[in-house]
Amino acid sequence: MVGTAIARELARYRLDCVLLEAGPDVGAGTSKANTAIWHTGFDAKPGTLEARLVRRGHELLGEHAPALGIPLERVGALLVAWNAEELAALPGIRERAEANGCPDVRPVTLQELYWREPRLGPGATGALEVPGEGILCPWTTPLAFATEAVAGGVELRLATRVEGIAPEGSREPRRPMGRVPVDQALGAHELATTAGPVRARWLVNAAGLHADELDRMLGHDGFTVTPRRGQLVVFDKLARPLLRHILLPVPTATTKGVLVAPTVFGNLLLGPTAEDIGDKADTASTAEGLAGLLARGARILPGLLAEEVTAVYAGLRAATEHADYQIRVHAGQRYACVGGVRSTGLTSSLAIAEHVVGELGRAGLPLHPKPGVERVRMPNIGEAFPRPYRSAAAIAADPDHGRIVCHCERVTRGELLAAVRGAIPPRDLDGLRRRTRALMGRCQGFYCTGAVASLFAEASGRSMAEVLGVPPSRSGAARVRGGPARSRGAAT
Ligand SMILES: Cc1cc2nc3c(=O)[nH]c(=O)nc-3n(C[C@H](O)[C@H](O)[C@H](O)COP(=O)(O)OP(=O)(O)OC[C@H]3O[C@@H](n4cnc5c(N)ncnc54)[C@H](O)[C@@H]3O)c2cc1C
Repeated sequence: MVGTAIARELARYRLDCVLLEAGPDVGAGTSKANTAIWHTGFDAKPGTLEARLVRRGHELLGEHAPALGIPLERVGALLVAWNAEELAALPGIRERAEANGCPDVRPVTLQELYWREPRLGPGATGALEVPGEGILCPWTTPLAFATEAVAGGVELRLATRVEGIAPEGSREPRRPMGRVPVDQALGAHELATTAGPVRARWLVNAAGLHADELDRMLGHDGFTVTPRRGQLVVFDKLARPLLRHILLPVPTATTKGVLVAPTVFGNLLLGPTAEDIGDKADTASTAEGLAGLLARGARILPGLLAEEVTAVYAGLRAATEHADYQIRVHAGQRYACVGGVRSTGLTSSLAIAEHVVGELGRAGLPLHPKPGVERVRMPNIGEAFPRPYRSAAAIAADPDHGRIVCHCERVTRGELLAAVRGAIPPRDLDGLRRRTRALMGRCQGFYCTGAVASLFAEASGRSMAEVLGVPPSRSGAARVRGGPARSRGAAT
C-alpha cells in the first residue's frame, strides 16, 4: 500500500523510478489482510505524525477513491462503551477527536444508539458517533496506486526481494544485514536482489514488516518491528442486514480493539485480535484467537453467531517500540525510511506518499513535474457500485459480462478476462481473487475453482499447475495454450 502510493506520487515527476516487490503481486503483504476501515484519525495520539497523516490520508482517499474506482462507502461508526470505565473514557475520546480535527464526533444517547442499531447486544452504557468513518476495498487500493504508477512510467519488478544494500563502489556490494556508515554512502545505492543487482541514486524503504531490516542495512538502528497479529472472521452476506454502521469499541493504548463492520463486498467482519508475535510470516488463525473474537462478537451483536462464517484470516501490523510512524529522510544518504506504519496505513497511504515525496524534494531530489500524467480507473468489485452482471449495456457491449463464472460473488467471465489481461496481471489465483472477488464467496471456490483456474490458464498461457500453485513434479499437467476458453459459464 505504502510503496505503491509513493511510487504513484513519484510518477508525477521526471524521474526514473523502479518499484521492487519481493512477493508475486503488489498489495499481497499486510495490505491484503486488514480491517479495511477508512479511518478519520479521531482517536490517534494528537501531535503525532500518524495523527496528521491519517487525517490527511482520509481526506485524500475520500477525494481520489471515486475517480480511481476504489470502492469506498461512508457508512459512519458508532463507538460503544460497555461498562462504567469505558463510559468515563468517552469525553476524553471526544476531546482527542476535536484535537485531531474531527469536531463532528458527538455523544449519542442509549435510546438513539439502540434505535440506530436495533440488533446491538444489551448492556451498552454509552456511545459516540464518528460520522466520517467508512469502509473501503483493501485490494483495489494498492492495485490502483500501482497501476497509476506504471501508467506514469514507473517500472514494477515483482518477485524481486532486496537482500543487501551497499554504497556504490563498496568492496562488499552485497551486505545482508551489514552496517554501512551513514557518511560513506555518497554514491548510488547498490541493491542486491533475488532478481539481480539494481543501482539507485535515491532509495525509499517501504518494506512493511521488514523495513527495520532494510534500515539496518543502511546503518540505522532506530526501531524494531514486532509483528502484532490481527485475526478476523468474515460472516456471510446474509448477516449484512444485522448492522448499519461500523461498531467500534473503546480503544486502548495498544489496539483499536475488536469491532464489527460491514465490508464493501457485502459481508460482516469481526476482529481483529492484537497479539505480539515473533514470526513475521505467522499469519495463522488460532482456535484461541477465534474463540475470543466470537465471544466478543456475541456481546456486541448476538445475532452474529447464528450466521455462517465465510472465512477467517489474519494480518500482521508492523508495530514497533515507538507510538508513531517511523518515517525519516536521510538527506546525506539520499534515503527515506517509511516504517512502523501499523494500524492505519490503508487510510494514510496517500498522505504518507505526499509527505515523503515532499521531504525527498527538500532533501534535494529534483522534482520536475511531468505534463499529462495518465489517470486510471479500476474495475469496480464493490457491492454498492455497478457491477457488469447487472448492466444490460455492459452485457450488450461484451456478452462475456453476462456469463457468470463465480456464482457466489457473481463474477463474470468478462471481469476475469479483463483482470488476466490488465496492466498488472495476476500471477496466481490469489491475485485473481483480489482483482475480481472470484472464489471469495460463501463456497470459497468449492464450486468454481476449476472453471476460474482453467479460464485463467487459457487466457494467460500458463499451465494449470502454475495457476493452482502445484509443484511441477506433482502436477503432470500440460501447458494450456492461449485462445478461447472451453468453459463459458457456470462452474458446476
Ligand atoms: C489486522 C489489521 C487490521 C488493520 N486495519 C486497518 C484499517 O482498518 N484501516 C487502515 O487504514 N489500516 C489498517 N491496518 C494497517 C494497514 O493494513 C497497514 O498499515 C498497511 O497495509 C501497511 O502497508 P505497507 O505497504 O507498509 O506494508 P505491506 O503491505 O506489508 O507492504 C510491504 C511490502 O514490502 C515487501 N517487502 C518486504 N521486504 C522486502 C524486501 N526486502 N524487498 C522487496 N520487497 C520487500 C513485502 O512483500 C510487501 O508487499 C490494519 C493492519 C492489520 C494487520
